[in-house]
Amino acid sequence: MSKNVNIDWSKLSFNYIKTDLRYISRWKDGQWDEGELVEDNQLAISEASTALHYGQQCFEGLKAYGTKDGGVQLFRPDENAKRMQDSCRRVLMPEVPVEKFIDACIQVVKANEAYVPPYGTGATLYLRPFVIGVGDNVGVKPAPEYIFSVFCVPVGPYFKGGLAPVNFTVSEYDRAAPYGTGAAKVGGNYAASLYPHEVAVKKGFADCIYLDPATHSKIEEVGAANFFGITKDDKFITPKSPSILPSITKYSLMHIAKDYLGIEVEERDVLVDNLDEFKETGACGTAAVITPIGGIEYKGKLHVFHSETEVGPVTKKLYDTLYGIQFGDVTAPEGWIVKVK
Ligand SMILES: *Cc1c(COP(=O)(O)O)cnc(C)c1O
Repeated sequence: MSKNVNIDWSKLSFNYIKTDLRYISRWKDGQWDEGELVEDNQLAISEASTALHYGQQCFEGLKAYGTKDGGVQLFRPDENAKRMQDSCRRVLMPEVPVEKFIDACIQVVKANEAYVPPYGTGATLYLRPFVIGVGDNVGVKPAPEYIFSVFCVPVGPYFKGGLAPVNFTVSEYDRAAPYGTGAAKVGGNYAASLYPHEVAVKKGFADCIYLDPATHSKIEEVGAANFFGITKDDKFITPKSPSILPSITKYSLMHIAKDYLGIEVEERDVLVDNLDEFKETGACGTAAVITPIGGIEYKGKLHVFHSETEVGPVTKKLYDTLYGIQFGDVTAPEGWIVKVK
């Protein structure tokens, strides 16, 4: 495909742009159809769709990366596929087979190849797979029909001027209940987070930190990203809880910490009253890879870690290694990379 698109890659942020084609597959009478690529970016669905009234839906987020040799690759799409199956099961939607999910992602990237930002720009092609309950329905019950779709948008690097720490404030609100849907990537958790996010931003913070909903004493999530901390004796610590969304970036960083950097890794409770145990902390997720945390405000006091202006050395190493793997500059563990081109 030699089509050219008129995009200034250096000016991209995280905004919707209509790309050429998107994948759509429909589920009815117990099965998914074959799926197809379509030009139309508008969905016509029943006004009585469960996705609109009862939040019966879920989504995923992953990226296609342009490599130095002109190739294009996906990072661990099988993990996104499996997580979407977990989300589907939690809200009683039919699972999309892993192969179908990966095939849909590859089709969308290939069909929109002109939108894959070139290597060196730090920009990527963001993929947004989702499943929604559709069809005519009024009662609170699972939908009679479903749509699985994947669209893509070119997005800029999260940090244009290099990794920069930001400050967070601890929220008094919860994004999910103790054994609710916190571990599923469903829209309801995000609806619940919009207001606390706005409150945090109005106070001058990048976003808020959510504590465990049962006791409000342990750190769970940082906005829509997972939390990690590096202890003073160089251990990588990340919270464990049934209401945390299992971040693929986080599990990848745990692997990198252990196997590439030789750092001990632990999943356990992180008490908000014991921030002193960490010399560096960060938030991690597909969008930014790592957002270094400068400080955390809790009960009116700002606890600063490494620095409010500079990223710590361990965080930087973790970031550089994962970023290098995603863009094909560092050798990836077996099975992490799926070549599209
Ligand atoms: C998607 C998401 C993350 C990050 O997951 P990745 O797989 O690393 O992108 C973290 N927390 C929440 C609440 C999320 O929705």
